[in-house]
Amino acid sequence: MGILSGLEKMGFKSFDKVDLFEEEKKEAKEKKVKKKKEEKKEPTERELLYDKSMICPICQKEFKVKSVIASKARRDLPDIDMRPKYISIDPLKYDVIVCYNCGFAALSSYFKEDLITDNQLKMIKEGVVAKYNPQPNKKYDVYTYDDAIDNHKLALLNAVVKKARASEKAYICLKLGWLYRGKLETYSKEAENYESVAEECKSQELEYLEEAKKGFIFSLAHEGGKICGMEPVTVEYLCAALDYDLGNNEECLRLVSKLITNPAASSQLKDKCRELKEAISQDN
Ligand SMILES: [Zn+2]
Repeated sequence: MGILSGLEKMGFKSFDKVDLFEEEKKEAKEKKVKKKKEEKKEPTERELLYDKSMICPICQKEFKVKSVIASKARRDLPDIDMRPKYISIDPLKYDVIVCYNCGFAALSSYFKEDLITDNQLKMIKEGVVAKYNPQPNKKYDVYTYDDAIDNHKLALLNAVVKKARASEKAYICLKLGWLYRGKLETYSKEAENYESVAEECKSQELEYLEEAKKGFIFSLAHEGGKICGMEPVTVEYLCAALDYDLGNNEECLRLVSKLITNPAASSQLKDKCRELKEAISQDN
């Protein structure tokens, strides 16, 4: 007997198999599928980029670069050496701005006219612009790791030519090291040349991280104040983490014990120091 049986006598057809909540169930199922679809749909790298207008502080040419829509990019857990990580995009690739007209390149926070002295302008014109082959057809588009690595190397050359502070050069080296790490993480393990690419990325990563560490240690001793926007204790932690990356465990532990007793270090930073200690004891 169905739940509506008995109504046949009033003229209704037989209701043997009525499911009272059929509609609701259908709706709920559709909603669930829709939600799952939305959750799964991460924006693509291209969707996370927008065009930003820039004026080159050296040649005054106006151009548009791809910039990351920070509010749309979803963060992932950073690496132990503070390398930031995001889902669907590696914003580090877009951190250097290049003027393909004159060859000037710098980290975005340094690509500003008021940060370049007259003397530096002269040095860049002589040391970069005069030698650079303009690349008018080069597109500001989604960058591969190799594009980003080339851009950062050009920025490093500019920094050397304009006699930038140690911290600026160290910061570019740090990012180059991280880019090689990112390249390897995203390189297809199925590729025929995977082994040789892996070897190259690993050795390049360590070479740049080593330079970054040297530069940051120098900056800590000689620059004073914030370094590349970071508090000195944060840079000390970064140096400890770079020592860990480089396999200098003893030096890492020495820096970490100094930081753990430093009243200027936040409890969050001290927790990260303990994570480093833990990582070393697990490796041994
Ligand atoms: Zn330019």
